[in-house]
Amino acid sequence: GLSEKLQNAFKNLRGKGQISEADLRITMREIRLALLDADVNFTVVRDFVKKVQNQAKGEKVLEGLNPGQQIVKIVDDELTAMMGGSATELTKAPKIPTVIMMVGLQGAGKTTTVGKLAKRLKQDEHARPLLIAADVYRPAAIDQLEQVGKQIDVPVFSEGTDVDPVQIVQDGLAQARENHNDYVFIDTAGRLQIDEKLMHELEEIKTVSHPNDILLVVDAMTGQNAVETAQGFNEDLNLTGVILTKLDGDTRGGAALSIKAVTGKPILFTGQGEKMTDLDVFHPDRMASRILGMGDVLSLVEKTQKNVDEQKAQELAEKMRENSFNFDDFLDQLQQIQNMGPLKDIMAMIPGMANNPALKNVEMDPKDLERIKAMIYSMTNEERENPDVLNPSRRRRIARGSAQPIQSVNRMIKQFDQMKKMMNQVSNGNMAGMENMMQA
Ligand code: GDP
Ligand code: MG
Repeated sequence: GLSEKLQNAFKNLRGKGQISEADLRITMREIRLALLDADVNFTVVRDFVKKVQNQAKGEKVLEGLNPGQQIVKIVDDELTAMMGGSATELTKAPKIPTVIMMVGLQGAGKTTTVGKLAKRLKQDEHARPLLIAADVYRPAAIDQLEQVGKQIDVPVFSEGTDVDPVQIVQDGLAQARENHNDYVFIDTAGRLQIDEKLMHELEEIKTVSHPNDILLVVDAMTGQNAVETAQGFNEDLNLTGVILTKLDGDTRGGAALSIKAVTGKPILFTGQGEKMTDLDVFHPDRMASRILGMGDVLSLVEKTQKNVDEQKAQELAEKMRENSFNFDDFLDQLQQIQNMGPLKDIMAMIPGMANNPALKNVEMDPKDLERIKAMIYSMTNEERENPDVLNPSRRRRIARGSAQPIQSVNRMIKQFDQMKKMMNQVSNGNMAGMENMMQA
């Protein structure tokens, strides 16, 4: 998939103290191919690569990040920007009802998504939505919306299939005003392809209903077609946003990446399944990280900087160089890691680690920290400074002294050794080494 290809593209930058133009060129070539392969629009890819290249050349390497991480960060930032930067919310009408018109091709997921959104608003804001059945071309469409309404306990306004949809929308809005519904969703008809008759009808509905949002529902599985569809609908209706459905399926990600860049309209939500709860707010930054599959390098650095005392960090670096990392340092580290939050979360922010199965076993329970403390406090100064002296009889003594089973003592010493190795890898800026260690 796209994530794997992108991660591969970064591989030749890993652990390098400096990145040459040639390195960068190879990486950018691979990124370009990965994006094109994922069905990202050609011009979007070209602009994207240009932006990343310019930034990579212009930017000085941030302290605390190695050059490879720096490029990952630039790519992450640019992907985020390409998808619109931050999440976009629904537009609220100054006076109720807020009118949301849903449009899209047949089968894209309009009716389902109307239900998902209404349910969400009901839950989040105790909203009282009304759903208008304006798809009169298929009798089953009205039944479907009525079933959705029943499922989420939201009223549906319909006048059957014999009334003009524009009239239905007007009547539905009148009822909503009368009943003080705060949201109105208009579930419109779709065709297999964009055609003039449909567009004309949608324009008329828009004229009479003054929607606060016109949301296009597109199927992510259709890749480039989703982007073309968005372009078509946007030209005629001037959309306010897009909802990308079926992201739970086997999509290549191209639609999510291209829609904003091509149409200028943001994605507000994504559909992740057929159930009424399978709707997520679209966060460009999270999506970028998900696509990169590398977590967020910068937030790791930020988090580290916030929590690790400068002085201590320097002392630690010194010890790394002397290779004299001892149990007191180990305790310090565990304490700091605990202050940062679950070890698992921290690890997940390291590039390439997010999907690492080894992470399942990395858990730092506060009780564990207490037990580890007890064991380290049961050591003599000599043992703390000089882990090599810990022979079986000393280990048994520590177990007795801390009231822990001998297995726990052995495990703790093993963890210490692992952390020592990991510290070495990190201090050498060698992420690949660290990954190998975690997989061991
Ligand atoms: P409409 O013609 O645009 O109103 O589309 P529907 O709401 O009737 O949806 C068409 C089909 O897609 C239905 O079988 C839905 O259950 C399914 N569907 C809608 N959204 C999603 C989604 O996010 N994920 C998956 N897997 N299926 C979806
Ligand atoms: Mg429908």
